[in-house]
Amino acid sequence: MESREQLLETAHAVKEAGATLLRGGAYKPRTSPYSFQGLGEAGLKLLAEAREATGLPIVTEVMSPTKVDLVAVYADVLQIGARNMQNYDLLNAVGRAHKPVLLKRGMSATIEDLLMAAEYVLSHGNNQVMLCERGIRTFDNKYARNAFDVNAIPVLKELTHLPVIADPSHAVGVRRHVKSMALAGVAAGADGLIIEVHPDPDQAASDGAQSLTPPQFSEMMVQVKTMAEAVDRVV
Ligand code: PEP
Ligand code: MN
Repeated sequence: MESREQLLETAHAVKEAGATLLRGGAYKPRTSPYSFQGLGEAGLKLLAEAREATGLPIVTEVMSPTKVDLVAVYADVLQIGARNMQNYDLLNAVGRAHKPVLLKRGMSATIEDLLMAAEYVLSHGNNQVMLCERGIRTFDNKYARNAFDVNAIPVLKELTHLPVIADPSHAVGVRRHVKSMALAGVAAGADGLIIEVHPDPDQAASDGAQSLTPPQFSEMMVQVKTMAEAVDRVV
């Protein structure tokens, strides 16, 4: 999330195409401290405005235990990013919050690590946890950002009752491959998808290379519906 205009334009476009939640980062965990770090609380306020305008509930990342109360004022779902999957203070803090949690798999985390991270949240009585497969690091990141662990989806579905979300955008990291990996995620049994969308991805302050344009998102959603029907699911 970079600006009011960019957020609202994206929010209306994804809603139109069938998205059911709006995810935007106000606090961004960037690999480099010199990269865009997000709009902070001003961004949370913009997300609330976008929810008001579209009716879409808001998902946003919280990076620090000290920010959980603030982010929970605005967010409908608290995201824990891959880099924080084993930040146990943070997991304890969101476990005490009365908001659903979207827990992203750490980039080098095993399935067991992910399930145990979820247990931290659950152990405080917060039973609203979604697990997210977002790709893991492997030896080859030349043509794809991460390796999308499609295996993890049916395995997690077998091991837990928690919903499993696929994030092909961060997994493959390449715009033209996001649609195929989204369809693979649905075929594998994912309960939801996270897809990054930007009105002008080549100018995006974060993750432009993997962001779809709104027309690409709409086209993907049509095929997602067809794929879901093929595996006896509905969107
Ligand atoms: C994100 O969801 O935008 C993000 C930073 O992803 P991850 O934590 O999976 O790298
Ligand atoms: Mn991102």
